[in-house]
Amino acid sequence: MTKLRELILRSLWLAPLGLSLVFVLGVLAWVRANEADEQDQQRQTLISDALSTEAQLRDRIDEEQAHLRQLADGLAGQAPSIATLAAHPEVNAGLRRLWQSVTWLDARNRVLAEVPEDAESAHSDDGLSLHLTARVAPDGVLVVRYAPALMLKRGVPWWLARKYDVQLVDSADQVIASTTESPLRAAQGPRPSYRVSLTGPLRASPLAQATLTDAAVELTLRDPATNGTRPLTWVLVAGFLPLIAVASWLIRRQMRQVQRAEVAGRTEAAWRRAMEDSALVALRARDFDGRLLYVNRTFCDMVGLPAEQLVGLLPPMPYWPPDALAEVAERNRRNLAGQAPREGYEARWRHSSGRMLDVMVFESPLVDAGGRQIGWMGSIIDITERRRLEERERRQVETLAHNARLTMLGEVASTLAHELNQPLTAIASYGAGITNSLAKLGVQDELVCGALQRLGQQAAHAGRIVARIREFLTRREPRHEPCDLNEVISAALDLLRRDCQRRGVALELSLAPGVPSVLADAVLIEQVVINLVRNAADALQARDGTRRIAVSSRVVGDFVRIDAQDNGPGLGGRRVEQLCAPFYSTKADGMGMGLAICRSIVEAHQGVLDASEAPGGGALFSFSLPLSREEATHA
Ligand code: ADP
Repeated sequence: MTKLRELILRSLWLAPLGLSLVFVLGVLAWVRANEADEQDQQRQTLISDALSTEAQLRDRIDEEQAHLRQLADGLAGQAPSIATLAAHPEVNAGLRRLWQSVTWLDARNRVLAEVPEDAESAHSDDGLSLHLTARVAPDGVLVVRYAPALMLKRGVPWWLARKYDVQLVDSADQVIASTTESPLRAAQGPRPSYRVSLTGPLRASPLAQATLTDAAVELTLRDPATNGTRPLTWVLVAGFLPLIAVASWLIRRQMRQVQRAEVAGRTEAAWRRAMEDSALVALRARDFDGRLLYVNRTFCDMVGLPAEQLVGLLPPMPYWPPDALAEVAERNRRNLAGQAPREGYEARWRHSSGRMLDVMVFESPLVDAGGRQIGWMGSIIDITERRRLEERERRQVETLAHNARLTMLGEVASTLAHELNQPLTAIASYGAGITNSLAKLGVQDELVCGALQRLGQQAAHAGRIVARIREFLTRREPRHEPCDLNEVISAALDLLRRDCQRRGVALELSLAPGVPSVLADAVLIEQVVINLVRNAADALQARDGTRRIAVSSRVVGDFVRIDAQDNGPGLGGRRVEQLCAPFYSTKADGMGMGLAICRSIVEAHQGVLDASEAPGGGALFSFSLPLSREEATHA
């Protein structure tokens, strides 16, 4: 089917030639029909002209016969003589008209008189002669000899003689008279002619009683109209066909060129399409109003919409993030005004699935074939993955830095703990030594002995804390033992209560009953609580009114959450990351390591430490620790 179509398309250039041939054949047929018509008409005219010529000639002969009769009547009874004849006006008039001679015969056909006297020689050049006769009373006969050739010359109108060869012919096809000296019949081939029998008293001989009944007038067309038309037609046709053939050939050549150009164009378009579609860069063309004129496949994949839905769209675009429409619209206006940064700009787009993507857009002028700018061409690269990797790298660097600081912190703390261990042990030893000495001396003072005992206990506790923190910082692994967090909090607050009273800070404790035990290092968690409450008490120093710290515990999902909230100045917009950074402190004598260690401890327990502004003003520090697996399933 396609082959047939191709064949038809290929032979299309022949169509004008074929149509021209049909046209030429049509013209020829028309010319032929016209010629036939013309010939028909010519024939009709010829017939009517022949009939009218015959009638005119007959009238003429009849007229001459009437003149002769008048003459015969005039001569009746007169003595036949040349003078009588010559004197008669009819004779003279007849001779002036047509008559060659007038002869008066007696009953025995002897010539009595004849005018003119040299009648035989007078009209010898007028060819064959015919005769008219009339009786003259009492017994004579008048014979008029006349030349039919002259009769034709005078009797046939000039226009008819110009158009036709008019001839008088007898039954044997012998020409009796003709309007032309030498008929052109042989030279010009057969020409249309028409013969009408001339009825009337045509007498070949004066004595013959019979007339030439089968004589006829024949009209032959001198100049048939068709003779000139045909060759001209053929010349025109012969000239026209090669011209059309040349024109068709030129059309064919032109068609081939167009076909070649079309194929080249199609191939180029296919190439371009393939290249554009396989490009990893998304492409979009827009007019000055921001209407999308073109998008490639990568662009469609990037925003998750088909080209049919995108092309023709005006801003706002469906891939703009709905929460930043105003900002994107403003940037779009800037870009359409030609002020997009040459080095490209970053944007956030939304895939039709709702997924957000980071893109880098480069705008450049869109120029048509005439070099006129008709819009903007955008090349877009998806940098989401690159962004993600960068972010991960940044986090890694941050974590590395954090770890490096922690390591350093660990080393500092470890050294510190090592250094503190000796004085603490010394305190405990001195305490024990004093107690022993007092016992030897017999001093039984309970107050002193009790104080010395608590001194020893506190020194030992301090030693344990230092050792545990040192252990944690060097091993980074807390001891996981089931512990009751409410108890840990209470113990920590007991240690702080006296200090808080001194500072005028009210400690409020609100522990949820039946908080399940968690797997944790109680000594470390206690340090976290102590640190949070002590920081809160430090912050409350600046406050004049009531100073309050509320510590609470509750179960939230699979976690136990502990909050420490104060009514101090709050965090002033600082985030937990900043506060927990090692060595960050706003206090004159602060080390800036408290929160850093707290966070490390909580995270080492798979927990989270957070800080925020308290709802009624002040700071809210909280940390959550996961319930042990069994507790979590019971909870
Ligand atoms: P330090 O106590 O040595 O300053 P921390 O790491 O414990 O170190 O605390 C860091 C900083 O966090 C403090 O200097 C303080 O500015 C801020 N901070 C901690 N707790 C509070 C709080 N409850 N209210 C306001 N600021 C606080």
